[in-house]
Order: sequence, then structure tokens, then C-alpha cells
Amino acid sequence: MQTVALKPGRDKTARQRHPWIFSGALAKKPSKVDPGEIVRITSYKDEFIAYGYFNSRSQIAVRLLEWNENHPVDMDWWHSKIKESVQRRADLMSGGATDTCRLVFGEADFLPGLIVDKYAAFLVVQALTAGIERVKKDLLPVLIDLLHPDGIFERSDSETRALEGLDESGGVLAGVEPPELLTISENGLKFQANIKSGQKTAFYIDQRDNRKEAATLARGCHLLDCFSYSGAFSVYCLKGGAKSATLVDSSSHGLELARANLKANQLDTAAVDFVQEDVFEALRRYRREGRYFDMIILDPPKFAPTKSSLKKALSAYKDINLQAAHLLKPGGILMTFSCSGAVDLQTLQTVLFWASADSGRQIQILKTLSQGCDHPRLATFPESEYLKGFICRIV
Ligand code: SAH
Repeated sequence: MQTVALKPGRDKTARQRHPWIFSGALAKKPSKVDPGEIVRITSYKDEFIAYGYFNSRSQIAVRLLEWNENHPVDMDWWHSKIKESVQRRADLMSGGATDTCRLVFGEADFLPGLIVDKYAAFLVVQALTAGIERVKKDLLPVLIDLLHPDGIFERSDSETRALEGLDESGGVLAGVEPPELLTISENGLKFQANIKSGQKTAFYIDQRDNRKEAATLARGCHLLDCFSYSGAFSVYCLKGGAKSATLVDSSSHGLELARANLKANQLDTAAVDFVQEDVFEALRRYRREGRYFDMIILDPPKFAPTKSSLKKALSAYKDINLQAAHLLKPGGILMTFSCSGAVDLQTLQTVLFWASADSGRQIQILKTLSQGCDHPRLATFPESEYLKGFICRIV
């Protein structure tokens, strides 16, 4: 195994267990290390720091895996880390009301680059790095042993693969192919998930707790569900007693899934509007039409995929929150989110400040929201926090 030394003074975050080492921190780039191969990381003075996998093609040259020198990263190591990660979800899955969750959340579950999601009897795997690509096939036996899935499907279609010098990769890795639409359960509700081509790995699992929260606020409400995708927030809110729901999304496929999901939960669609439109335009149109709502959900896509797109993204976040503030009746509830890693909670709160100042409506923040507990945030890896949101009251 090759040893890779860090430059003097560049070992602090690695010792503090931040799992990324950028190429600029390496004293010397190792030669003849295959993409994803395990290396030994040491300080400039040759003190052992950790084992990790190396990729010369990535800005993140090394992802650290193990800080104990006596625990080399072999197949037993990978299997036991996966097992521990799966076991950490046992409580979430007990009781049978929920059969879908993230089992492995990459760095935050001490398995950088690996995502494993469980959708009922199927698993979806994403290999985001060369290090995971290298061991991917060897990780399947432990998943099969632990979970006995009907099938394991790969959805390594994330753009981050390109940063690792990898092409997209997908298809059946084990067992049978998932059906076009798979019925999954979340908090006792039923949803249709398209594992083969749905957004993300099929469903926005990370919003589970926030949807439950939304349901508790929805009784008697006329709801506007912006960026609704498969209508999961609306299903929860209608079950929670919302009087009507207007779902807006640009994706016809998403709205089709939403119709199916309302039906799967025996919800009447008489008071439900499915609107295929750009949310920015729809919000303005409702304002022109003098339409008001009791509750608005804003769950947009990642407006700021990188730090360089932040400025433009913030004006987009401000725009939708400002428009929503205008459309809410006094006392109305705004549930607003950002899933951009580059936008932290404080910045999202600043967006609300701008929306409040410009709309002339007071915005009270009632609660702070985040991603579900199956997407843990690691204290030493702040990058693991990506979803943030607020429940607000417009006064
Ligand atoms: N709220 C959803 C997830 C939303 S993901 C859930 O809980 O499952 C973001 C959605 O925004 C996607 O469905 C995408 O199709 C849609 N979208 C992206 N840009 C849009 C725009 N400008 N107008 C309308 N919809 C948009």
C-alpha cells in the first residue's frame, strides 16, 4: 500500500476526522495508484493519520475511511461499516409504517461516496466516487445478507461522477429488475416510486419528517404545493384535513405520479388542481388573479449547485418567498426549503428577511427544519447538511 504524506500544517482537519483531503494538501502526488485504491495518509513527519482511497482525477484527492492503523480497509471492514449503518436505521423501520429510507448516507455514515436507499423490497445503490466504483460489486453480498432484497438497482447518474472521471452507470446489480412503479410506504401512506428513472433515486425520502409536520398544520387549509413532484406533501396535507390542494410542477411525469399517489391513498381529487407550469410564473399569475392560500410549500430544486451560482440562486429563492408572502392570507403558513449545500440556514433566513422587507408582510419563524434522521449530519463534516427549511407564519 502506498503512503501519501500531507504538506506541513495541512493535517489538522484530517486528524479532526473531516473525510476529505484536497489535492493541494498532498506533499507529493503518488504515482501508479489506481483510481480508488486504498492509501495510507501520514503527516509530513511520517505519523500515521488514516487510511483512505485515492483518486488523482478528483479535486478531493483522498476520502478518509479509517483512523485506526490496526484496522486496515479490507472487505470485512467495508461489510462491517455497511452493517452498522443499516442497523442504525432499525428503529426507523420498525413497526412497518415506513419501508423506505436511506440506509447509507455517504460520508455522514462513514462510507464516503456510497449511497444506499431502501425502497420497500428493493435497494438502490449510487457509487459517487472511484473508490466506491472499485468495490461496488463486492459490497452487494452484505446488503443481500442483511436485507434479502428482491433486487438491487444502480442509479449512479449523478453529475458528481464526472468530477471523479467516471461515466454514468446504471441497471440491475442483483436479483430482479424493479417494476416501473413500485408501491412504497412512508408513515403509513402509500407512494409510487419509479426506481429506474424517477428523480433522485426515485423519491424525496429526505422530506419524510417535514411532510409529517406539514400534515399537522394543514387542517382546513387551501394548500399551494410548489415544486410538488410526486405530490407527497399534498398527500400528507390532504390526509391531515386540507380542504383543497393546488400542485405546481414543470414535470408532467411528476404530476402524473402525484395523481397516482392521491389515488393510492383514497384521496378525492375533486378539490385538487394539478398545474404544469413554471412556479415563478404561476406565483405571479395567482397574484394577478387575486388568489390567496392558507398554506404554501416551497420545495424547489437545488438553485445553487455550486458556490459560484450562489448569487443568482439567492435572487431566485428571494423571488419565490416574496411571491409566496403576498399570496398567503393573514396567519397563513409558509413552509420553505433549500436543498442547496451552498445556502446555509442563516442565509436562508436572510432570504426571508428580504422577502419580508420587500413584501411588507411580517414573517414569523416558528420552526427550523432539516433532512430526515436517515440523512444524518456529521458534526465534523458540515457538508453533510444540505436540506434546510423553516415553518413560518405570515402576519
Ligand atoms: N416536493 C417534492 C420534491 C420537489 S423536487 C417532494 O416532496 O417529493 C423539485 C421539483 O421541482 C421537481 O419535481 C422539478 O420538476 C420541479 N421544478 C424545477 N424547476 C421548476 C420550475 N421552475 N417550475 C416548476 N417546477 C420546477
